[in-house]
Amino acid sequence: MKEIIFFSNNKNKIQEISNLFMKFNYKLLSLNDFKDTASPIENGKAFKDNAKIKSVYGYKKFNKMCFADDSGICIEALNGAPGINSKQYLGSENKKNVILNKIISLAKNKNKYKAFFETSICLTLNIDKQIFFSGKVCGKISLKIRGNHGFGYDPIFIPDGMNLTFSEMSLHQKNLLSHRAIAIKKLSEYLANSV
Ligand code: IMP
Repeated sequence: MKEIIFFSNNKNKIQEISNLFMKFNYKLLSLNDFKDTASPIENGKAFKDNAKIKSVYGYKKFNKMCFADDSGICIEALNGAPGINSKQYLGSENKKNVILNKIISLAKNKNKYKAFFETSICLTLNIDKQIFFSGKVCGKISLKIRGNHGFGYDPIFIPDGMNLTFSEMSLHQKNLLSHRAIAIKKLSEYLANSV
């Protein structure tokens, strides 16, 4: 079985992506399998740039096919922020609910609830060959924090056409429609047909 590295140590993402990869004929490795791997500085200006920085870095480090994702949320009430700064904007886990409530208040005050999650995945096949896959899911900010699953902004994001936040969904449900799932599906179709 071919090995492929997902350059991430985010256990939520690894779990999401492992589930999505189960049906493909690849052995998925992540930074969980290579403890204490340093990470490169993500100084790109777009999701795509940061995905490429991590994917190329991982390829060089392990000399194996390597992909990385970079994702975030863009919120209408914040004029499209935090985007690539989503992680820093949310801050530490214990302050997370303060920030999430701040976003809800801003959305209410401005009566602007639209938001979307976006993912860019970069796959490095060899040092000169990178391929990109994107995924986007549009939705709205909820009126309060809801749900216990998932991570990050999941408790305040309701995807279009649903009544539940991502945090109120099971991992399986979220994986049917998330930004990352859309991009991973494109990646896996590519791997199934081309590599
Ligand atoms: P990353 O750079 O792809 O690790 O994502 C940056 C940040 O965006 C994460 O730390 C989360 O705060 C947020 N984020 C990305 N994807 C999701 C998601 O599926 N749900 C909730 N938050 C997310």
